Amino acid sequence: MYCPNCGARNSEEATNCSNCGQELRRIETPGPEEAVPPPPPPEPGGQAQTTSYGPQSDVPNYLVQAILTTIFCCLPFGIVSIVYAAQVNGKLQAGDRAGAVQSSRNARMWAWISFGSGLVLIVGYLILLVVGALAQS
Ligand SMILES: [Zn+2]
Repeated sequence: MYCPNCGARNSEEATNCSNCGQELRRIETPGPEEAVPPPPPPEPGGQAQTTSYGPQSDVPNYLVQAILTTIFCCLPFGIVSIVYAAQVNGKLQAGDRAGAVQSSRNARMWAWISFGSGLVLIVGYLILLVVGALAQS
């Protein structure tokens, strides 16, 4: 007979597979349901909701915005924003909720400053391009 677990051939008298140790039952061919792996355990309920109970849930750290504005807009202001954003979680873990909120506000403010100055630079650059193009014509 064949082991339903690994498919190794065993003698008809064997009670356990000589290859993997699987307990053998007296069936000539393993049923199709034997090959189907057991269904995965159900998702642990409320996994995503547990984050709402954490102290970090209501104090956004704006780290994503800070990094994005650093990359796409204005590097020095964006770095200031990243520094504040990085402080938020650390202060929350230290129990300094007021400090975390303050850092969160600073991170958002500097992200906007970075975004705004980047925008001004881009617009100013475009204006210079247009003026230069007009001056040449
Ligand atoms: Zn086996």
